[in-house]
Amino acid sequence: MRKTLYIIGLSVFVFSCTSQQNAKKKQYIPRTPVVQPKTAVKTPGSEKPKPQITTEHGVEFFTTNISDLTKNDNSVSYGSIVSAKPVGYKVVKTYFPAIAQNFRQRYLILHYTALPDDKSITVLTQQGVSAHYLVNNTGDNEIYQLVDENKRAYHAGVSSWRSDKNLNDNSIGIEIVNAGFTADAEGKRTFMAFDDAQVKKVAALVKDIATRYNIPATNILAHSDIAPTRKQDPGPLFPWKKLYDEYQIGMWYDEAMKQNFYDFETSTDFQIKYNDPAFISNVQTQLQKFGYGLDMSGKWDDATKTTIEAFQYHFRPQNYDGIMDAETFSILQALLQKYPVK
Ligand SMILES: [Zn+2]
Repeated sequence: MRKTLYIIGLSVFVFSCTSQQNAKKKQYIPRTPVVQPKTAVKTPGSEKPKPQITTEHGVEFFTTNISDLTKNDNSVSYGSIVSAKPVGYKVVKTYFPAIAQNFRQRYLILHYTALPDDKSITVLTQQGVSAHYLVNNTGDNEIYQLVDENKRAYHAGVSSWRSDKNLNDNSIGIEIVNAGFTADAEGKRTFMAFDDAQVKKVAALVKDIATRYNIPATNILAHSDIAPTRKQDPGPLFPWKKLYDEYQIGMWYDEAMKQNFYDFETSTDFQIKYNDPAFISNVQTQLQKFGYGLDMSGKWDDATKTTIEAFQYHFRPQNYDGIMDAETFSILQALLQKYPVK
């Protein structure tokens, strides 16, 4: 009897403990309570609009922009929000958005795959190289995304533009399905044309990405621009001028500016100064200033020739012989005038 009472008593004790624990669980209080930052609504600048957030499929996105584009290229708009979720604490996203921020996506690099559609997909998804997007050539309305825009894709390799290096870190890569080129016995390259419908896809994609990240015209480049001694893509048949004229994408020179430089360059015998080391150094300085990674040798060395060829692929595609003729030099100067390095 005594034993029975003892067991009943023990059960009540155990039960009451458990129920207390249950009650505690129901009213969960974090060990360190989150204190509402009351001062937040009174801080200077709090009158500014706060970023609005929307949630789609469990992922949060900023839908408003707090940036001042005249002061900085920062922005909090459009991007998905990746936040910490520390146990017991609340991460607040809308009280203190900082003005001093910008996107990591600062360049847009265009490539061709030098492969047909199916092979392009295999290589860009199953091997050591990748791109954020792949623009096929199958005539449908699809563009394939292979890598999240917030992550690095392996498309640029050893690369540079102006003071930036290793552009995988800060670029979006777009691969365009195209057969590339064939070379004859002397090494002269014949490139393959791009399909009109495919170019329209590329234009729409570039426009969308460049607008969302506020990517400047000077940072929309060919793979051959950022790795001129290694790469030719997307080659001289990629229609940069059409993209500029019809979609306001990327850089192009003003014809009148170019003509002024051309008149000056051809007013004397261009050939006389052509092999002058001072002129070669001047060309190398200007190519470097414009953005190309090039060593100053004062000679028409292989690196300089391939860099001139890369420049011609982009801006003087009618003739890409790698020789800095009066027209190529005039275009380079016109571009530098139009897009001065800040
Ligand atoms: Zn490439």
